[in-house]
Amino acid sequence: MQPCASVDALPPSRPPDRCPGILRPHVAADGALVRLRVPGGQVPDGALRALSDAAIAYADGDVHLTSRGNLQLRGIGLDECGAVPAGLAEVVTAAGLLPSASHERVRNIVASPLTGLAGGLTDVRPLVRELDAGLCADPVLADLPGRFLFGLDDGRGDIAALRCDLTAVALDDGTARIVVGGLAGPTVRLTQVPETLLRRARRFVEIRESVWHVRQLPRAGAELGGTVSAPRPPVFTMPYGTIGDAVSVMVPLGILTPTMVAALPDSGVVVTPWRGLILPSGSNLVALRETGFETIPDSPWQRVTACTGAPGCSLAGGDTRALARRIVAGDTTDSRIHVAGCERACGAPHSPHRLVFARSTP
Ligand code: SF4
Repeated sequence: MQPCASVDALPPSRPPDRCPGILRPHVAADGALVRLRVPGGQVPDGALRALSDAAIAYADGDVHLTSRGNLQLRGIGLDECGAVPAGLAEVVTAAGLLPSASHERVRNIVASPLTGLAGGLTDVRPLVRELDAGLCADPVLADLPGRFLFGLDDGRGDIAALRCDLTAVALDDGTARIVVGGLAGPTVRLTQVPETLLRRARRFVEIRESVWHVRQLPRAGAELGGTVSAPRPPVFTMPYGTIGDAVSVMVPLGILTPTMVAALPDSGVVVTPWRGLILPSGSNLVALRETGFETIPDSPWQRVTACTGAPGCSLAGGDTRALARRIVAGDTTDSRIHVAGCERACGAPHSPHRLVFARSTP
């Protein structure tokens, strides 16, 4: 038997970064969980199908979407070294979801999911690729926290409404405003955006000590060139149905079953930070709805979210997803509900909402 590989050492004063990756699984109540970064939500061709097959073979059978537009598998059995099965790591690598072992947990980039397809002031997809390549090429940036989030907003205000650490918001087809935590930064040419963000991220690594986010720095991001408070962006509501050259669908509770994945095209799939997918135009809305996707803009699933809850989380007081399904079936009139299994309220939206606790497993 091969000896177990050691996990990289942390500076003694820094609390451990528990953000999971395929090489650093998190052990939950229902087995191990791995998170796979998808910069800008742009899923490599064929990757979802490969991952769904792997979820059947090695995990709970489903592919889970996160609120940062990433993918997760849950319920994985680890080997005697605490690693995921070699076959699963091979599938993830072959699917193009692990281009850098050293940087896998820091490739956290959200971008306007409809960019280049419908609306927006510019197409930020080339910036996603350049930012990701620059991130992976810099050994210093492997020390970013796994929670650190880059945002690229094509000018429509969707990503600007999220709490990213460093955001570039397009002002037109040639320039962007940099937002540092909650502070306004400089205006730069779009071509300068990746290096401008990477430079600030490097500085954050140097000065962060034990903080996870730019907002937690002593001067709340002024250290990285932020000045006055950035204007608070309005709440963004994701559109659903056919939109320009794309189709936008909701994934209730962010759970992609094998049947749902089988109904998807092999290419052109984008994961949104609102637990949905953008698909190529021509996708059949009726067929998608039959497999479990929601496509109606005023669906209650637009307003109801839930944390993992029982049985996946050991802290949960009840089955949050079952309660969320009951709330949706009851046709709630609340404008926004988040179902949580405990006071931590993981995954709660940043917009105003009513918090409902699942107190016992049905
Ligand atoms: S809110 Fe509580 S129960 Fe829900 S996932 Fe977070 S820690 Fe677990």
